[in-house]
Amino acid sequence: MKVFKTVDSVKRNLSNIDEKFSLGLVPTMGALHEGHLSIIKKAINENDFVIVSIFVNPTQFDKTEDLKNYPVTLKADLKLLEEIDCDFVFIPSADEIYNSNIVSEKFDFKGLDKVMEGEHRKGHFDGVGTIVKMLFEIIKPTRAYFGEKDFQQLQIIKTMVELKGLPLQVVACEIFREKDGLAMSSRNTRLNNAQREAAPLIYRSLLKCKELFLEKDIKFIKDSIENEFNENAYLNLEYFEIANVKSLSPSTNINKNEKYRAFIAAFSGTVRLIDNIALN
Ligand code: AMP
Repeated sequence: MKVFKTVDSVKRNLSNIDEKFSLGLVPTMGALHEGHLSIIKKAINENDFVIVSIFVNPTQFDKTEDLKNYPVTLKADLKLLEEIDCDFVFIPSADEIYNSNIVSEKFDFKGLDKVMEGEHRKGHFDGVGTIVKMLFEIIKPTRAYFGEKDFQQLQIIKTMVELKGLPLQVVACEIFREKDGLAMSSRNTRLNNAQREAAPLIYRSLLKCKELFLEKDIKFIKDSIENEFNENAYLNLEYFEIANVKSLSPSTNINKNEKYRAFIAAFSGTVRLIDNIALN
């Protein structure tokens, strides 16, 4: 496994790969868990070569505290990647990427960035777009892999690729969960025991929503889920929305010919957790 720290070195080495070979890119922020590994293994199965990037991208954090507390486990990450036979790892510094000018490019994501995560984390998706576009330009992958755990991010990146006509395929990967349903996340390691025990309420609520989806109206579903969170001492609901998968705009009425997902963001102490589920 080759590890690159500079843009020059990764470009130079990847340019030696013959064009007939496919290259899969899996962008991550490190603190790798089984969810990341499932995506990387899928990329390994579907490509001749795979590169994983590990970069805690400062421009996508709206709160400096969250950035400061983001778990970093580089040594363990590299060991895991070595064990699953990843070909390349790119671990640039912030200076290497931003040249000491840590600001985002501004994007037009056709309104997809104005709701849910975008509404609650100002500038988040401009930061995501900035780093993902840069990685695409540096690495020039055949395919890039993103998890449905961050479904809004996935749709926004698909939109960016389409609008800019970038020559690559975006591959969506299903959500990996702990046995009790909690979606795997690097942030889960920051939960204390009581918070960790309470956290599966997020997935249980999504399952309940799926069960009620075609039977009850959206107001009833939202009220009953909000009530459950109100009764839980460890979780504060930031938002719960049912949204059309294409527009991502929160829906109040259901058109049975369209596809919908339910989305949750909740705080457990200072740890922010998100999850979502397909409803139909
Ligand atoms: P992150 O390191 O959190 O930026 O995640 C890197 C990639 O892994 C993103 O495309 C995420 O959507 C994806 N990912 C993170 N957690 C999971 C999970 N539990 N299941 C599937 N994909 C995930």
